[in-house]
Amino acid sequence: MSPTAAIRRKPHTPPVSASPFPYNPGSLLSVNDLSLDELNHVLERATALEAQDPLTRDHILAKRRVALLFYEASTRTRTSFELAAKALGADTALVSNLSSSIEKGESLKDTGLNLRALGAEAIILRHSSSGGAWLLEESTRLPILNAGDGMHEHPTQALLDLRTILAHLRPGVKEVGPETLAGVTVTITGDILHSRVARSNMLLLPRLGAQVVLCGSKELLPEIDLSGWPGVSIERNFEAALERSQIAMMLRIQAERLAGLQLDLEEYKAHYQLTGERLARLAPEAVVLHPGPIIRGLEITGGVADGPQSAILEQVTHGLAIRMAVIERALGAGTPAGKTAGPAKKTTPQQKKGARA
Ligand code: ASP
Ligand code: ASP
Repeated sequence: MSPTAAIRRKPHTPPVSASPFPYNPGSLLSVNDLSLDELNHVLERATALEAQDPLTRDHILAKRRVALLFYEASTRTRTSFELAAKALGADTALVSNLSSSIEKGESLKDTGLNLRALGAEAIILRHSSSGGAWLLEESTRLPILNAGDGMHEHPTQALLDLRTILAHLRPGVKEVGPETLAGVTVTITGDILHSRVARSNMLLLPRLGAQVVLCGSKELLPEIDLSGWPGVSIERNFEAALERSQIAMMLRIQAERLAGLQLDLEEYKAHYQLTGERLARLAPEAVVLHPGPIIRGLEITGGVADGPQSAILEQVTHGLAIRMAVIERALGAGTPAGKTAGPAKKTTPQQKKGARA
């Protein structure tokens, strides 16, 4: 081989190392990747970054490159990650399935490797397949932030839900621990079967002492073995569940994932819609959450969504702070002196403990 050929064949970027997991310590694939210390660090940094002067904050990741790779529609999550990265001064590039070679069938791995060759230092991924974020991490070795993988996880949503819950029920708490949410019942109602939001919350909130009650019809919440899910239980009667809740988290019916499942929507509303009347009668103090998008008049009435108990838009604002913190973590900035982010715990997308939530 001529020396020129050898040079030509040299890849632009170093080959991806074949080393097995653990992940890049900046990745956030599952909420379980965060130890309690790391969780506290993320919450603390979210608060600090939110309070920081925007003109100094944007030096933190000045000119660092963050790619957003979105294979599914998203309004809040995408905008929030993008604004969060920009707030820290990073350059962002958005690749979405509607405007890229993804449409032409390029694989997730190849798209990821190309983004890496373009200098992306972290990738925020939303993918319709459960486990997509793990695959991208394995193939690029970059810090990957899971912005929702199929019906599996949505870790930043659970973190922003937690921050919203703390702001309402534990204002002023500086550090969370296994008892912080003791005595708090969070009812998650609706399309549990297809919900990555439910799963991430089921993993996170009980670690801080909360009881998570899942509520929904058999179609959307099949009988599942919850023995591997401490602190999580099922209550089919929405009114009974509401009565014991401090937090009522409502979920959208994910029409795009129903795959032929027929639902009687009128019956669904009769049993599970969060109405002003139900809220006033059964949970007049409860905080109402919803990850969005809300379908007014289906799982929740417009009056409740806009009403005084709703913290739905606060969740969105908390999301921005949380995403600044996890992007900063991904790029290794903001780590306290002398402390490294440490190797992430190994989770696998199949670490589902028998539940299909
Ligand atoms: N799916 C919702 C939206 O379109 C929220 C999200 O992106 O997570 O905004
Ligand atoms: N926004 C959430 C998600 O992306 C919930 C939803 O889409 O209904 O999973």
